[in-house]
Amino acid sequence: MKRIKYLIIYILSLFCFKKKSKVIFYHDIHSKKKHTNMSTHIDLFKDHVQMIRNSGYEIVSEITEEYGQIEICFDDGFLGLYENIELIKQYEIPIHLFIVNSFLNKKHYLNLKHLKELNNLELITISSHTFNHNTLTDLDEFSIKKELFESKSNLENLLGKSIDSICFPKGMFNNTVIDIAKKVGYSKQYSSLPGFYYDKFQNIVIKRSLVQSVNNSVFKGILKGADHVFFYWYKLKHFTL
Ligand SMILES: [Zn+2]
Repeated sequence: MKRIKYLIIYILSLFCFKKKSKVIFYHDIHSKKKHTNMSTHIDLFKDHVQMIRNSGYEIVSEITEEYGQIEICFDDGFLGLYENIELIKQYEIPIHLFIVNSFLNKKHYLNLKHLKELNNLELITISSHTFNHNTLTDLDEFSIKKELFESKSNLENLLGKSIDSICFPKGMFNNTVIDIAKKVGYSKQYSSLPGFYYDKFQNIVIKRSLVQSVNNSVFKGILKGADHVFFYWYKLKHFTL
């Protein structure tokens, strides 16, 4: 299935020439020891970064232009990003890091000291990935609000800055989640639906492409938006009524 998907992306990329801004995401990076099976080897990550830059895009902390910008997200707060922070600094790669509060201090994840250190770096922007990483569409309204509000206020207290972005655990959301997130104060909501940055779902939900395990030619296709052909498939999986 994965191979067929990548083949479709590769073929479509031959016909895509747009350089519209978009968000891509990973879970972690590693050189030797992996903290999760979702981790990307630093050599592949470096290849991706080089390809982004060689294709004429700028990697930014926050997208502000319709064309030519890529925002890189990391979800869950695994330790590998911290262990390889020198690479991030050396290549000056802005990273948007989404943290699950209850994962902090656990094995394979960042602890509070790491988080504060990362927060002090200009390259790193920290946002919320909810308090417990529960599937929001399985929760009642009170529990959704609790997950979103407590994560935001806890991170704000820890880091002394305002938190206005969230990404949905396992990519799962619905209209209730969108409304509650808005009310709680998240002006930016990130999904796992593929698409360009300014082509938001329901006018608010930001689309992102998962690229953690893709080889260079598939990655090139995804940058151009060739994976958007799978939007409706992802929407069926991730967006519930
Ligand atoms: Zn996650």
